[in-house]
Amino acid sequence: MAKKQFKAESKRLLEMMINSIYSQKEIFLRELISNASDAIDKIYYKALTDDSLRFDKDSYFIKIDADKENRTLKISDTGIGMTKEELENNLGTIAKSGSLAFKSENEAKDGHDIIGQFGVGFYSAFMVADELTVISKALGSDEAYKWESRGADGYSIEPCEKDSVGTEITLKIKENTEDEQYDEYLDEYRLKAIIKKYSDFIRYPIKMEVTSSKLKEGSESEYEEFKEEQTINSMVPIWRKNKSELTPEDYDNFYQEKRYGFDKPLKHIHIKVDGTVRYNAILFIPENIPFDYYSKEFEKGLELYSNGVLIMEKCSDLLPDYFSFVKGMVDSEDLSLNISREILQQDKQLKFIAKNIKSKIKRELESLLKDDREKYEKFYNSFGRQLKFGVYNDFGQDKDVLQDLIMFYSSKEKKLVTLDEYVSRMPEEQKYIYYATGDTIERIDKLPQTELVAEKGYEILYFTDDVDEFAIKMLMKYKEKEFKSVSSGDLGIEEESEKQTESEEKESKELFDYMKEVLADKVKNVRASKRLKSHPVCLTAEGEVSIEMEKVLNAMPNNQQVKADKVLEINVNHEVFASLKAAFEQDKDKVKLFTNLLYNQALLIEGLPINDPVEFTNDICKVMV
Ligand code: ADP
Repeated sequence: MAKKQFKAESKRLLEMMINSIYSQKEIFLRELISNASDAIDKIYYKALTDDSLRFDKDSYFIKIDADKENRTLKISDTGIGMTKEELENNLGTIAKSGSLAFKSENEAKDGHDIIGQFGVGFYSAFMVADELTVISKALGSDEAYKWESRGADGYSIEPCEKDSVGTEITLKIKENTEDEQYDEYLDEYRLKAIIKKYSDFIRYPIKMEVTSSKLKEGSESEYEEFKEEQTINSMVPIWRKNKSELTPEDYDNFYQEKRYGFDKPLKHIHIKVDGTVRYNAILFIPENIPFDYYSKEFEKGLELYSNGVLIMEKCSDLLPDYFSFVKGMVDSEDLSLNISREILQQDKQLKFIAKNIKSKIKRELESLLKDDREKYEKFYNSFGRQLKFGVYNDFGQDKDVLQDLIMFYSSKEKKLVTLDEYVSRMPEEQKYIYYATGDTIERIDKLPQTELVAEKGYEILYFTDDVDEFAIKMLMKYKEKEFKSVSSGDLGIEEESEKQTESEEKESKELFDYMKEVLADKVKNVRASKRLKSHPVCLTAEGEVSIEMEKVLNAMPNNQQVKADKVLEINVNHEVFASLKAAFEQDKDKVKLFTNLLYNQALLIEGLPINDPVEFTNDICKVMV
């Protein structure tokens, strides 16, 4: 039989897995039992909706057999099984192609990260076994196949005999080493403990031969040992249990068992509703951003159960996009079993549940913000961007749900603050909520446009995400206070120096007009600045489209060539302005040179590219010589 090679990527991953220093090798059993349970879910569901399939509750189980002598551990299930093609496709490739590229080699070395990120569950068996055999017969097929592999060197598939539908996975357990007692994975007490720990709620019996003892016949004190088959797990799904019976570890284990993520969840939400629509749900907010979260491949959704039977793996209608990071499951007795995706979308019960879940998540996030700021900030750093998209999307339909959950970096507090916090400490005479946009906090710190507002002692919110300004435009106001960019035309700040600026502007009208002529359609206007204090020059925008918005919109794939109406503002109290005035009297070419220089400087400060960098440097040289 010719050996087949694993796909290149899988091979690398497999090698890492085998050599992984992953501390909890025991989780391999959880992974295999989960797979078995998923496979039984599939056949169970088919049997419920297809009368031609016999339905007998006792025929769904998982069995664990440990054989110390031969060093084998077998996990069998009565699930849906795999065809030859499925064995190839499911077990011949790990992780979807391309996904490994997300992780650098270094990060991937410790298999820990890998298991969680890619769900390479099946392969975790190689942490404790040096040989794997999978025998499987798929539902509706007469043939069975055997898949075998000794690790990274490849695998083989050949036909074999198997009576019943299902899958049998046999692990040849590694020999003990100095550091690792692999024997423990053949020990019935140890196996029992691992099953209890990770797989207790699995809804099918996990059976195992265990040693029991009983009084010897005719004796009153002597015991004899005998083997009996026991069901190890309690089979009560965790979401049916009372919250008081459950520990945080139970939720963590459930999260990992379900492969919602491999990190520990940041927070769990356990919901039990007994109203007109009854449902249970366990929801999680992950600690880390899933590697594909901000990619097109990411699919939101919750697992949907009807009375304990999984009917949909990712029900997207249960979550709004802005809560798409939430993982978990919903179980309702009130949903019909053989419901199709189309009917589900119309389903009243489901709509009710979705609405309920939405407000529940909102409330939980609000209380996290209130009670555990540090944790909330951690959450916000991962998923805040999504909330801001939520404010903006659907024409701001849900902005009220979200406006108290969003935060921005504050110039004064030097940390994230809420809008409520901002507004509550606004001095009475302050009219607007001020914000400044830029790529990073450091850059905004240095923006000339912030000078007047900062000098006034007003707090400024820093917008560093591309979505920020769009979200705020949708919000328009918070508690009756409008948002105002520090770059906008009228800042609403009365100043003594204002009159002086205005008279200077009138006096030097010809100079400003000339500068505007030099810059032609690059700017809408050139004027004396009311906001600059120490810097000579800056760019601002008139009208609805800000410079930052122009940047964002033009970076989009369907680039719409949106232009902001730019204004070049000159600080009339700066020495540079005196030079400009002097030049205007004597040497118009010099004014041209200065104007171009100032404009290009303003572009650089704004983080915008300059049209002709060579000309710019030549201009600087001219000034130097
Ligand atoms: P994951 O379960 O995260 O998809 P695995 O590597 O554990 O990754 O499994 C790959 C696939 O192989 C599964 O999605 C499933 O389709 C199939 N599979 C694994 N174990 C079984 C099993 N016991 N019965 C049927 N199919 C299985």
